[in-house]
Formats: sequence, structure tokens, C-alpha cells
Amino acid sequence: MKKVAIAGGGPTGVTIALMLVQRGIAVTLVEAASDFHRVFRGEGLMPSGLDALEEMGLSNILERIPHRQLNAWEFFLDKKSLFRVNEPIELDCQPCTLVSQPPLLEALILEAQKYNHFEFIQGVAVKDLLWINNRVAGMKLADGREIVADLVIGADGRNSVIRQRAGLKLERQPKSMDVLWFKLAASSLFTDENVFTAIGDGENAFAIFHGAEPGKLHLAWTLSGSQNITNNSDKTKIEWAQIFASISPSWLAEHFINYADSIEKPIKLSVVVGICPCWHTPGVLLLGDAAHPMSPIRAQGINVALRDVIVATNYLVPLLLVEEADNKAIDRVLSRIQKEREPEIIRIQQLQEEEGRQNKLFPKNIFLRKLVIRLAHLLSKAIRQSWIQRQHKMRRGVTQVKLEV
Ligand SMILES: Cc1cc2nc3c(=O)[nH]c(=O)nc-3n(C[C@H](O)[C@H](O)[C@H](O)COP(=O)(O)OP(=O)(O)OC[C@H]3O[C@@H](n4cnc5c(N)ncnc54)[C@H](O)[C@@H]3O)c2cc1C
Repeated sequence: MKKVAIAGGGPTGVTIALMLVQRGIAVTLVEAASDFHRVFRGEGLMPSGLDALEEMGLSNILERIPHRQLNAWEFFLDKKSLFRVNEPIELDCQPCTLVSQPPLLEALILEAQKYNHFEFIQGVAVKDLLWINNRVAGMKLADGREIVADLVIGADGRNSVIRQRAGLKLERQPKSMDVLWFKLAASSLFTDENVFTAIGDGENAFAIFHGAEPGKLHLAWTLSGSQNITNNSDKTKIEWAQIFASISPSWLAEHFINYADSIEKPIKLSVVVGICPCWHTPGVLLLGDAAHPMSPIRAQGINVALRDVIVATNYLVPLLLVEEADNKAIDRVLSRIQKEREPEIIRIQQLQEEEGRQNKLFPKNIFLRKLVIRLAHLLSKAIRQSWIQRQHKMRRGVTQVKLEV
């Protein structure tokens, strides 16, 4: 039986592991974190990600774990509502849904553990690659173990060790933002109707919504340009509540002040965006954020990672099931996986960048901002329409992705 070693038990690593073991290929999956709650990743799944889970036969797992649909998106500038769009935006597809990642990953691992040819090593990092005759032949772990495999998959995220050890370059986009991620007590305003609410005043911006788990609002505070994480992370709960309230409409400002005590210490998230010109080298394939770290804008990373997994499964399974398939045949197929996935990744990253630029358009120009607010009742329809049009590809994907094996 052919064997695949996978570094990283995020959405990419866990789903590709499950797809392979279900189809008769031996897998060892290695995850550095000792439990899935230790790594932050967003929760937003777009229709393209939900469809990918369905393609993989995993929708039933979603039903068993905490998830919550978004009811709408609403955008505020200087405390005034610019426009609102209800979910689902397009009637023929599912609404954007928040899915708690730790229970999803745990449930997928349990599924994979039904197969004897699956091994899961948790709480140990992959440190290096194992080379034989100039081809990667496995991974070396921090505890000294060596995993020999016919193929190594680097699914170890944006700072991928596999990528670095394999000498694969990452072309990074210029850094445009970091994020402070807060959680605080839920308000009935969001439990009754979960509206992804984006708020800005030209200087500062944040987004707030009810997360997948009950009882908690999530608040993503964007740090752009000169604002840096260190200067912003030592404020008290009360100071943060006052800052959030100062740019919020009154109904929300009141909640921040009343529930200041519930504001949890933020997680600092350094955003990396880019793509590798080459996702593979003999014996190694990169997938997900390891190959193309995604911006958090409009919740794309998990969705495109799941679609990478479907395409990789289509190419790898028929080959790895052939016991006589040699290493050269495995290596040849890796470039075809990149070739099929790259156009969508490039386009989605462009769309995310464009969306980021739109967000900055008003703040840069005070005159324009005041004008827009004054004319909001006249412009709202046009701004809303243009926003809806821009979302289409980020919700549905750019290319056709179907599981064929
Ligand atoms: C602030 C923020 C919000 C986001 N929100 C969303 C969202 O709402 N929706 C969305 O779709 N995307 C979102 N994203 C993007 C999303 O988190 C990533 O694109 C996605 O998690 C990529 O999945 P992955 O499995 O490739 O990598 P990761 O999720 O990063 O998983 C990589 C795994 O590899 C492990 N690992 C790392 N190094 C090693 C090693 N040496 N050995 C073994 N294991 C290792 C890590 O512990 C981790 O578990 C967001 C990103 C950010 C920064």
C-alpha cells in the first residue's frame, strides 16, 4: 500500500488525510498543536466551502457540530448604516455559515480513525524532511521519529516548515493588515438575527458577528498601516469597550459599555498573504495556506483549501492505488494539481485585495466620506448593488471543482 505523510492537521491536512484513507491509501498525519483549540482559524464557510464538504460526503458531520448561519451583512460608516444585504445573497445557494473549527476537525479525525491504515500523531512538530537520492522520502519529527512515505503533503499553514525545508519560495503580497480577535458576551441583537456588522470611522474599523459556539460575539479589529499589534494589545477591557463604542451606532455602543467585563484578551493574528510560484518538488506537494496563504477578507482560506483537497484527491488517488506506480509518475502529477488550482487562487486573492482597497476608499478621503454619508439615502442602492456583484466569485468559486474518485 502506498503511503502519504501529511504535516499539519488544519482543514487542509485533516480533509486530505480522510479522503486518502477512505480510498485505501495509508496516511500518517502529524499536527504540532496538542489540541485543535490552540490554533486560531476563522469560522466563515461560503457556499463554495459548504459545497466542497458536501462533495466530500461530509455535510452530515456539520449537522452534529456547532454552526450558525449568517442572516445578513450590514456596513456602517461614521455610525450610519450604508447598506444591508440579507443572506442567502443568491437564492440558489446556501447562506454563509459559521462553523466551529475544533469540533469539525475532531469529528473528521474520528472518521479517519475508523481505518487501520490511518495514523494520527498530535502534539509533535515536523522539523525537517527526509531525503533519499535527491527526492523527499518522508518527514523528521521534533521527537526524533522519522516517517517514511511515497509522498509528503505540506498542509502546515502560512509559515510552512515543509515549504521552507523543500526550498519552495513564497511570493508575499505587501503586508496590509494585522488583526486583533476579541470575544465577548453575546447580545440578543445578534442571537435573534446574526448580522455580520462592519463598522468604520475613517481611522478605525472592526467587524462583529455571533460565532458558531453559543453565547459569544466575535470582534475582529483591523490594524492597518502604522497601527501595530504591540501598541494595541495592552489596553484594558474598559478602554477597549470605550474605543469600540466610540465608533458604533448607539444600540451597539450600549452593549460594549454594559458588557465591558466580558471582553476577553485578544488573539493577535499576523496576516500573511501570498502564493508559491511552485507548489511541489520531487516527493512533496503543498496545499492550502502552505501553498497560498489567504487574507481573512470575506472568509476564503478554508473554502479554497477544501477545494484544493478535492482536486488533489482526484489526481492522487488513481495513481497511489497502483502498487507499481513509481516515484516519477507521482511527481509528474503534482504540477497538474497546481495547474488546476492556481487560476482560482490568483483570482480570489485579487478579489480579496480589491475588497480591501474598497474598504480603504472612504477613510482615505474625508470629503468623499462626508459626502457619502450625506447622500447615503440616494447612493445606498448603487453601493449595495456593486458590493453584491463583487461577492459572486468569492462565494461560488472561480472554477468547477468536483470530486471524481
Ligand atoms: C484573522 C483571520 C481570520 C480568518 N477567517 C477565515 C474565515 O472566516 N473563513 C475562512 O475560510 N478562512 C479564514 N481565514 C483563513 C484560514 O484560517 C486559513 O486560510 C485556513 O485555516 C488554511 O487552512 P490550512 O489547513 O491550510 O492551514 P491552517 O489552518 O493554518 O493549519 C495548519 C496546521 O498545521 C499545523 N502546523 C504548523 N506547523 C507545523 C509543523 N511544523 N508540524 C506539524 N504541524 C504543524 C498548525 O498547528 C495548524 O494546525 C482567516 C485567517 C485569519 C488570519
